[in-house]
Amino acid sequence: MINRNWRRWAAAINLDRVLRRWLGGRGIILMLHRVQASSAVWRGDPGLWITLDQLQAIIGVLREQGYEFIPLSAALPRLTGRQTRRFACLTFDDGYRDNYELALPLLRSMGVPATIYVTTGLVDGGVIAWWHLLEVILNQHSELNLQLADHRYRFPAISLAQKCAAYRQTSALLRAAAPAICAAALQQLAQDYGLAATQLSQAEMLTDDMVRSLAADSQFELGAHTVSHPVLSALPPAMAEAEIALSKQWLETLGGRPVRHFAYPYGDRAAVTPAVQAQVETCGFTTATIAYGGPVTANSDPYALPRIPFGGQDTVWDLRFRTSGARNLLKRSGSLSARLT
Ligand SMILES: [Zn+2]
Repeated sequence: MINRNWRRWAAAINLDRVLRRWLGGRGIILMLHRVQASSAVWRGDPGLWITLDQLQAIIGVLREQGYEFIPLSAALPRLTGRQTRRFACLTFDDGYRDNYELALPLLRSMGVPATIYVTTGLVDGGVIAWWHLLEVILNQHSELNLQLADHRYRFPAISLAQKCAAYRQTSALLRAAAPAICAAALQQLAQDYGLAATQLSQAEMLTDDMVRSLAADSQFELGAHTVSHPVLSALPPAMAEAEIALSKQWLETLGGRPVRHFAYPYGDRAAVTPAVQAQVETCGFTTATIAYGGPVTANSDPYALPRIPFGGQDTVWDLRFRTSGARNLLKRSGSLSARLT
């Protein structure tokens, strides 16, 4: 709460505007995931969601702060070019159907371009969006039982706090599991709770027709986000390369257009290593984005472009703070950053 108030106070006196002048870099890339009409339903990871009102508000506040919305393809030349006006790019990860059905009409009406990074296995049904499966189970049951390899885990899920804890702990276990073990656990989970996991998962994702329609729409771009959303750095190199290359190929075949942009699944420091970055470059992408960091600067690595996450309870005050570059300054002065970020 103290942090939130500090940001609100700083924005109220336009401190972020002053900081942005010096620390705001060339522009920003926002990282978004899912979109919903309202925030009434319990979500396992609220940070993955924004409402349409939030989306409209962030576009409004960024325009007010002087940002120009451009497609990601136009961002690279702006890093070193003469254009001084700051740019903003919107990116949506994973390829959710709500992006197409809810966000795109709003973005069209506001003239804002966007890039949608697609995890291709989630769209073709070869891979299950396990985070959605967990959410469905936790919304309907007061306990979550997970069989993962030889271990049986039992999480109580009666109160909202317990549901959140169960979601968090199960997510961590599944993310850390080897792909084959994770797949077996999901199959068992679906069977135990009587769920048609593939259909449930696919219903949340873009359809093939939506992907084709996006590829043909000049306002929106498709980017690749692997086939199965793994932690790439944890895979053997050949498997990581296949994840990267096959997602590109799948999207290009379906959409009939080159796919030049990539987002690393999870996108944190552990998931994005120099070796993984080199693989993305070798596969023919021109940009790749990570899941943290502040503004994009002239020195940003095209294969590790920082993004600013936004979702859940985040407000326009949080956005103004994050886009100002203040966090990078605070990081340099250690103790302050611990208190204020
Ligand atoms: Zn993702």
